[in-house]
Order: sequence, then C-alpha cells, then structure tokens
Amino acid sequence: MTLSSLPITVGSLLQKISHTLKSTSPTPQLDAEVLMMHATGLDRSALMTSGNAALANGQELLLEKLLARRLHGEPIAYITGVREFWSMELNVTPATLIPRPETELLVEKALTRIPKDATWKIADLGTGAGAIALALAKERPHCHLIATDISSAALETAQTNIKKLRLKNIELRQGSWFVPLADEKLDMIVSNPPYVNRDDPHLEQGDVRFEPQQALIAGLGGFDAVRHISMHAQEYLKDMGKLLLEHGWDQAVKIHGILHHDNWRMITHYPDFAGHNRVIEAVTSKSAALI
Ligand code: GLN
Repeated sequence: MTLSSLPITVGSLLQKISHTLKSTSPTPQLDAEVLMMHATGLDRSALMTSGNAALANGQELLLEKLLARRLHGEPIAYITGVREFWSMELNVTPATLIPRPETELLVEKALTRIPKDATWKIADLGTGAGAIALALAKERPHCHLIATDISSAALETAQTNIKKLRLKNIELRQGSWFVPLADEKLDMIVSNPPYVNRDDPHLEQGDVRFEPQQALIAGLGGFDAVRHISMHAQEYLKDMGKLLLEHGWDQAVKIHGILHHDNWRMITHYPDFAGHNRVIEAVTSKSAALI
C-alpha cells in the first residue's frame, strides 16, 4: 500500500495504518501507534495531541517501510528493537525471544525467595535478551547473576541491555545449559527454557514464526530442555538451593513428575492471572534430610 495519496497528518495516517493492519495483526490500533512513535520520535502523550501535525517526508517513508514489515508478519518488538519487561526497556533482536509478561511471574516468585540484602549467586540459563537476569540483578543489587546462552548473538543483545541499564552485577557466559557453569555452587537457578512441542500448530502463526526456534521448541511434547535441567541442576546448587522454571500452561503435571523423579523436594506451582500454573519451583534433595 502507498500512503502518499492521503493528507499527511499524524491522525489520518494512524487511522489508515490501523485499518490496513486489521487483517494481519491482533492489535492494529496499538501497532499503528507504536510504529508512528518509532517513525516520528513522538512519545505517547505527544502523539495524543499531534493528530493534525504534518509528517516530514523522511518520516513518512520510514513509516511505509515499518508498516510493510508488520504487514509481512514481523513482530512489533523486532521492528522497533525494544520491548518493555519489568518496567525496563529492553533491546530485542531476532536472535532473542521477545520477553513475555508471563515471565514476570517467574521474576516475582524468585524475588519472594531472595532476601533483599542477599549476596546469592544465581544463574539464568538461556537468558536470551537477559530479561530474567536483568530484573533480578536490578532488584537484588548484592546478588551476582550468571546469565548463560548457547547463542552468542543473543548474548550480544543481553550485553547491550546490561550496559543500557548500567548493571554491574551480571556476568554473561556462552554455552549450552550447564557447560558454562563449570564447578559453580549456586543459591538459585532460574530459566525460561524452550518448552513448545515441536508439533504445536501455533508455531506457524503470528509473532513466534519470527522468533529463534532454538529458544522455543524442545522436542516432541516440549519437555527436552526441562528434563535436562531437572536432571543436572542439583549438581550446581548448594544445599537448599532453589530451581525456578517457566513452562507451558498445560505442562505442570508432567513437569512435576519429572522433578519428582529427579528427587527434587518442596515442589511448588504458581498460577498466572488466567489460573494456569506457569512457574514451578523446587529445592535440592540434599535439604530433605534437614526437614
Ligand atoms: N511462551 C512462549 C510461547 O508459547 C514460549 C516460550 C518458551 O518456550 N520459553 O510462544
């Protein structure tokens, strides 16, 4: 579509763009506003009062390019390069999963376990853009976070976020799951591992088509990564060390079984706002002797 046949004001373009996006996006109005803010540099309150303002030529051209990408299905967060998580504006790239609101549940539950002045060593496995590790590092400045990922491109994005947020208590290490942890003995391990069933039809729809498959898919059923983490994490935890994992809305029972089989203790489920268990917590079995 070409936008140039219209009277070029912010308001008329917003209307036109949201109309155009109706068939491809579940959130056409919001998308139109975000793309407009990105192309013009206006913030949300300026956008609200700029309906009659004209666009500069370059801005209009840029907006056309951004709109074409969104029409092609590309997620808004990859187009703008940012996504809000835990009140932080994080950079995201196609090398990283786009942080989701449900992952804030994992952060919230981890924080209830970590005392305010704790000096814990905590690993975030498969950190991607760094969302979980950044939130924990920010909220618990005396803790030391080790954020790992197999993808060096993802770690570059995480590094940008560490700099942007000026956090000094996160260290990045590249490698698969426990490989970069060597002989660490940690207080807590957190992860939002890949957990989507490789046959899940929703992989063919919407934003996930553009996200790294390695960060989403975990074999048939979606349990491969969780099985691996459950099997090995206790070797890297201190006595009473804690594990917190995000998982799919229908995976709680199966994952409970996996953790139970691997001798984890005090297995606890946490539901999201929709009432689905989405986070599981467990404690190392060595501590069982003390209970
Ligand atoms: N919540 C994501 C989805 O369903 C999956 C994230 C993950 O695998 N860690 O698209």
